[in-house]
Amino acid sequence: MTNDIEGNIQAVLTRIGNACRKYDRKPEDVKLLMAVKTVTPEIIKKAIATGQQLIAENKVQEVKNKYEALRETPHISHFIGHLQTNKVKDLLKCDISCIQSIDRLSLAEKIDQRLSIEGKNIDVFIQVNTSGEDSKFGVAPEEAIDLVRQVALLPTINIKGLMTIGILSEDEDRVRQCFRILKRLQKEIRSLQIPTVEMNELSMGMSGDLEIAIEEGATIVRVGSDIFGKRNYMLSAIPKN
Ligand SMILES: *Cc1c(COP(=O)(O)O)cnc(C)c1O
Repeated sequence: MTNDIEGNIQAVLTRIGNACRKYDRKPEDVKLLMAVKTVTPEIIKKAIATGQQLIAENKVQEVKNKYEALRETPHISHFIGHLQTNKVKDLLKCDISCIQSIDRLSLAEKIDQRLSIEGKNIDVFIQVNTSGEDSKFGVAPEEAIDLVRQVALLPTINIKGLMTIGILSEDEDRVRQCFRILKRLQKEIRSLQIPTVEMNELSMGMSGDLEIAIEEGATIVRVGSDIFGKRNYMLSAIPKN
């Protein structure tokens, strides 16, 4: 890890490539999503300039703060943080392609209401709390299928897959267990063939555990600190434009 963003991205891509080779995954089936919380627009632009176009924020305020600065830079924006219902309107103004953190019906309904008015659609993932930790958001695994069925009925929302945050643990088996729960849910949901529901994406794995996630079937890994360095949370308070 250095301050050289391009070098860091290259190193992460090498890790992804090596994991794909080792675990018999096609490299084109695993996408890198750059988690850019606390990262300034200037540095985000440098990262995008290396050829990576997928970025993700996890606070609505940060999405809003950086929106104007990144508008002219082609990229694809996901949202991966806990989303309060009263912030949905603001978030949807910022051209987000995918919200990965749908964890309750009321949130999906609010998004659907707004999008119906605007005549738009959005891709979402259902976030599952696979670690069982109280501190983590996400629907409980045993409630995930019901939630998928209900969200699938909302006309403006396209379910594309599942997202989880693995447990933060030195014990690889416990981390792997989280990813296996997500994979198993994906299979189960696929077998139900719920109309309009696609289950092609599994967003799992971060800087510390992306190899395990790829081994267990991740199609999107979300990497922040191994690209941008340790986060300085003071930067979350970037002034509004
Ligand atoms: C910050 C963040 C990441 C990236 O984590 P790193 O350990 O910095 O790679 C991934 N997913 C979510 C939901 C995040 O908030």
